[in-house]
Amino acid sequence: MTRVFEDDLASGFGTRAIHAGQRPEPLAGAIMTPVYLTSTYVQDGLGQNKGYEYARGKNPTREALERNVAALEGGRHGFAFASGVACVDSIMKLFKSGDHIVCGENVYGGTFRLFDRLLQHLGLSFTYVDTRDPQLIADAVTPKTVAILVETPTNPLMRITDLAAAAQIATKAGAYLIVDNTFASPFFQRPFEHGAHIVFHSTTKYLNGHSDMIGGIAVVKDDDLASRLQFIHNAAGAVQGPFDSWLALRGTKTLHLRMPRHDENGRRIAAWLAERLGDERVIYPGLPSHPQHALAKKQMTGFGGMISIDLGTKERAATLLSRVKVFSLAESLGGVESLISHPAMMTHASVPLERRTALGISDGIVRLSCGVEDVADLLADLEQALQGL
Ligand SMILES: *Cc1c(COP(=O)(O)O)cnc(C)c1O
Repeated sequence: MTRVFEDDLASGFGTRAIHAGQRPEPLAGAIMTPVYLTSTYVQDGLGQNKGYEYARGKNPTREALERNVAALEGGRHGFAFASGVACVDSIMKLFKSGDHIVCGENVYGGTFRLFDRLLQHLGLSFTYVDTRDPQLIADAVTPKTVAILVETPTNPLMRITDLAAAAQIATKAGAYLIVDNTFASPFFQRPFEHGAHIVFHSTTKYLNGHSDMIGGIAVVKDDDLASRLQFIHNAAGAVQGPFDSWLALRGTKTLHLRMPRHDENGRRIAAWLAERLGDERVIYPGLPSHPQHALAKKQMTGFGGMISIDLGTKERAATLLSRVKVFSLAESLGGVESLISHPAMMTHASVPLERRTALGISDGIVRLSCGVEDVADLLADLEQALQGL
């Protein structure tokens, strides 16, 4: 089990981002955690080893990442997985056939697909609710409810869930509050401070930040819960490889430098778009016109670089996507480079049309992941692409 080094929790966020979970390598004192490319570890004698037996169970590079992110979230134990969805899948293995989960209706498309197309057939049941309203969460809880899973802000509609209210409902029901913290990152939002029990990420996004790996990570505070996840991590085996762990670890060292710039660019671009297209067409929790701006400000310390705009029709959306030059047309988010995408046809294509429409993910919606380039170039790019639209 990868428990954080206690003294790492004492320092500030930036210091933790750079140092937490990492100690000079014992052979030569290398300051950077090596990529431990090994499947097994030589044992001193029967039943005598250095704490490492086989690399599915433990790998020092992966452990450094797990400790690092656990320290950033203010948790105690981290578990790095091969992808964000592998992470959710393994978390769900805490539960058994017959158990019930209340899930945000607007969670990541791949999370919904995993629940609806795979896990539902194994006997877990899911109720999808609009988690913006805590009463709807409470109303969906049954005696079989074991977890409430929320994502805040959501993708791509930037809806906010009141984490403290959701944690209270979960705790009262004897269930876990599980939070997908991918969009905000621990730099802007730390769900444990609001009472969450499990926090997870697609490290593919802001934590890595450089669009060069796929990964997921779960963090918990409770030791017993950590033991159960540790068992699943090894028994189901969807673990993160050492090289991808190293890339993510390299990424988290600059999280506290990147996030303020994503936020600064996000705010500037959202304000400019609101002026250019009208408040009602721009969805960004940092805009005072966002219906949940006050709640966002209460539980987040910044809003990041994710903005959605509604251009009204698929044709207008397609025109914008075809004209941008600095923004790249691609799925994913959270990297240093700016991306633009069309949720209905890309990230949410696996969500049936009827459901997409009910959720408000219309064909005119375009999602921007504002990177850390010069904001003037990003604004000029959007200006030329929006000409005549
Ligand atoms: C990308 C993403 C996931 C899934 O992660 P992968 O690393 O792509 O498997 C889960 N949740 C959110 C919010 C995401 O953006």
